[in-house]
Amino acid sequence: MQVSKNKVVLMDYRLTDSEGRFIDSSEGDQPLAYLHGLGNIVAGLEKAMEGKRVGDEFQIALTPEEGYGHPSPELIRTVPMEMFEEPDDLEVGTHFSIPDEETGEEQFILISAIGPESVTIDGNHPLAGIDLVFDISVVEIRDATEEELEHGHAHDAGGCHHEQSDEEG
Ligand code: ZN
Repeated sequence: MQVSKNKVVLMDYRLTDSEGRFIDSSEGDQPLAYLHGLGNIVAGLEKAMEGKRVGDEFQIALTPEEGYGHPSPELIRTVPMEMFEEPDDLEVGTHFSIPDEETGEEQFILISAIGPESVTIDGNHPLAGIDLVFDISVVEIRDATEEELEHGHAHDAGGCHHEQSDEEG
């Protein structure tokens, strides 16, 4: 079986920047599972996965265009300090996540500066603007279930985790 549209692919990965600085890895964790062909992973990596087989190992370097894009100045905003419940706890470099009002997807916000009465927050993806290098090992390829195709993402043995909070709420 080869990686193609509507297959669920499990892969081990190691991600660094173009200078070899470690960013993320699946080591010590479950392989990453995704549903191929729907833009669930960054465009450049998805393209490289096409046609791969179980056991294939490869490295691919991605420009920001093929990865998480370039930082957008529009996503950097200054907000009043009083928007934060515990302003004393704020620290430059801290990330927090808030659900997007429209999609409900988690959005990561970085505190990039703190003034006397205002806080600058940066909603750009932490990997925006970075040249990325992925080392990939294809662990498993299987047909997606009907439920996965309906949801547009991969499930693991425990089922759908992505919408768990909705089900509980
Ligand atoms: Zn689901």
